[in-house]
Amino acid sequence: MSDFGELGAGLPEANDELVDRKILSPNHDERKLPISMVVIHYTEMEDKGFAIERLCDPEAKVSANYLIGKGGEVVRLVPEDKRAWHAGVSYWRGIKDVNSASIGIELDHPGHKYGYCEFPDAQFEALVPLVSRIVKQYDIPRANVVGHSDVAPARKIDPGELFPWDRLAEYGLCLPRPKKLERGDPFDNDASFYLALERFGYDITDGHKAVEAFQRRWRPEKINGEIDGEVRAILFQLLLDRDRGHTR
Ligand SMILES: [Zn+2]
Repeated sequence: MSDFGELGAGLPEANDELVDRKILSPNHDERKLPISMVVIHYTEMEDKGFAIERLCDPEAKVSANYLIGKGGEVVRLVPEDKRAWHAGVSYWRGIKDVNSASIGIELDHPGHKYGYCEFPDAQFEALVPLVSRIVKQYDIPRANVVGHSDVAPARKIDPGELFPWDRLAEYGLCLPRPKKLERGDPFDNDASFYLALERFGYDITDGHKAVEAFQRRWRPEKINGEIDGEVRAILFQLLLDRDRGHTR
C-alpha cells in the first residue's frame, strides 16, 4: 500500500525502479484471482524487437507482464494488476486460470527453435531482482515460481532444461533441486506416482508429457518421459520437504 493512499494517484507507478522501458500491450484484461505465482518463459524469437511487436499485436492475443532482453533490459508490457495472456491453457496446484494468478516474465531467447543456448548472465542478473521484488510483494511461495512447461506440460517446453533454476534457488526465489534423496520408494505403481505428481502441482492429463516436464525442471540430464527410480526419488523428496515445512 502506498503511504499516500488515494492521493497516490498520479504519482509514478510503484515498482518502477527495476523497469527500463514501458510499452503497454493491449493484450490484457482484469485479474480474477490474487497474484500467487510467477511463470517464466522464453520468447522463442530471433529478435527482441519482433518479440515486443508480437506481444503487443492485438491479432496475436499474447502478452506478458515483463520481457527481459539479453542485455538485461526490463520492459513492462502489462501492469502487474492486469491479467497478461502468457500461459494459455494451464494448470498448477489446483489453479486453472494461471494468467489470473501469475506474473508472466518472458526472456528474450531463441528457444529450441532457433538454436537453444544458455541464458545470458546479464539477463539472469536482471531477472533476480525483479522476481525477488515480486515474490516479496505478493508473498509468493517458492514452489509457485515455475516455468511455462510446468503449467502446460502437454504443450510447452519453455524456458527449457538450460534455464538456471538452481542459481535462482540460491537466492531463495524458487525451489532447489533436491540434492540428498531419502531412501525408500513410496510409489507402489505408476498410478500412485502420477497422483503424487498431481499433488505436487502438475496437470497429469498427459502422463508422459507431465513426466517430461517434471524431468526438464528437476532432472534435466535425462528427459524421456519415463518414470525411473531417480525421478520417483526426486518427487518423493520434494513432497517430503514440503510436508515437513522445509519448503513453501
Ligand atoms: Zn511460454
